[in-house]
Amino acid sequence: MKQLTIISGKGGTGKTTIAAAFASLAKDAVIADCDVDAADMHLILQPEILETIDFTGLDVASIDESLCIKCGKCKDACRFDAIRDDITINIYECEGCGVCEYVCPEDAVSLIERKAGDAYISKTRFGPMAHARLGIGEEASGKLVSFVRNNARTLAQKHNKDLIIIDGPPGTGCSVIASITGVDMVMVVTEPSVSGIHDLERVLGVAGHFNIPAVVCINKYDINEENVLLIEKYCSENGVEVVGKLPYDDTPTKAMLQEMTVIEYSDGEFSKRVKEIWENVRGHLNETSGHTLLTMAK
Ligand code: SF4
Ligand code: SF4
Repeated sequence: MKQLTIISGKGGTGKTTIAAAFASLAKDAVIADCDVDAADMHLILQPEILETIDFTGLDVASIDESLCIKCGKCKDACRFDAIRDDITINIYECEGCGVCEYVCPEDAVSLIERKAGDAYISKTRFGPMAHARLGIGEEASGKLVSFVRNNARTLAQKHNKDLIIIDGPPGTGCSVIASITGVDMVMVVTEPSVSGIHDLERVLGVAGHFNIPAVVCINKYDINEENVLLIEKYCSENGVEVVGKLPYDDTPTKAMLQEMTVIEYSDGEFSKRVKEIWENVRGHLNETSGHTLLTMAK
């Protein structure tokens, strides 16, 4: 089973547009929306939810008021200032370390699992989909990404699929690392802006650190062709292939408004280029079993 993650240095680079288009072109893949802080692939794929699973993040302290004598030892011991003056727990600050449970002389504190979001198993017109929604203010997104990826693997085994297409989160944080560890290849979507080049270098650095083969797709290449040359030079020097370039185009917006992938919406220039990129990526994915794709130098 192959796994491809599509990531970007920041949000809004067209990552989800491309991941959804790849899902429609692959036809036989499992789709995993791991951008759990800002999931929007469902807007295009309109999944039918078959199962909702509670996602529990960190443990959180809970105080039994009938046992508590308000001695304040727990509050004094909490390094995270998660216990208020009235000896109630601020669940958004609590790290679940258990120190309060340890110091409480009355056994009034226990750690309980806290629901931090929902994970979904769905079906779409292109195949099974694993996705999720993180609760407001929750920070366990890396753990939820791993949960979604596990669900996607289970779906791939159950439905005998040999490819998982993962829409990863933007940036370089722990949720990005959770979305790329152990995959066969990442595709980084970037734009030719100064900040885009900087973000690209950081994201490729993360992929390189984990020895994951990486390729690059430049979106909106025609907004600054000088910067495109800089990106191509940087990629060439670091052994990373630029698998394609997409023009600035309103096709993705129009397609999303129609709840369609760009491939379904149009067979114009933008969609043709996405198809070419997919063929290129698919070829590389087939090669990865032989480890022929270059990985970026650390
Ligand atoms: S579990 Fe740790 S962080 Fe949470 S309230 Fe207790 S001492 Fe504070
Ligand atoms: S240490 Fe235990 S008894 Fe004391 S205030 Fe905290 S919960 Fe209540």
